[in-house]
Amino acid sequence: MDPKSTRAVAIRSPRGATVTEIDWADGHKGRYPHEILRGYCPCAACQGHSGSIQFVPPAAHQLEVEKFDPVGRYALQITWFDGHDTGLYAYKYLRALCQCEVCRPQSAVSAHSPVHRS
Ligand SMILES: [Zn+2]
Ligand SMILES: [Zn+2]
Repeated sequence: MDPKSTRAVAIRSPRGATVTEIDWADGHKGRYPHEILRGYCPCAACQGHSGSIQFVPPAAHQLEVEKFDPVGRYALQITWFDGHDTGLYAYKYLRALCQCEVCRPQSAVSAHSPVHRS
C-alpha cells in the first residue's frame, strides 16, 4: 500500500460541523460524517472485546467533535464534546472508513442515516 495513503496532511472540522474532512498525503480528500466516525469508534467501551468492529448508532448529542490529537504517527485520538476520548483511530482504519463519493459510490452513509417521515 502507498504509505502516503495513510498519512493525513490536514484535518478540517469546523466547530458545529457534522462532517470532518481529512486530506491525505496521496491527494485523496476524505469525507467523514460524524455519525460514521462516532458509530465506528474503535474503543473497547463502544465495541466491547468481540474483535470485529460494528456500527453503534450514536445519539444526536454525541456527534460533535471537541478535538483531534495525533498519537505518534499511526493514529488519531478523537475527543468528543460529550467527553468521550478513548477512541484511537489508526490512520489505516480511518482511511478505510472514508465516505467520499470515490470510496462509497453507493453512499453507505444513507443506510445509517435516520429516516424522517413527517
Ligand atoms: Zn468509543
Ligand atoms: Zn475517499
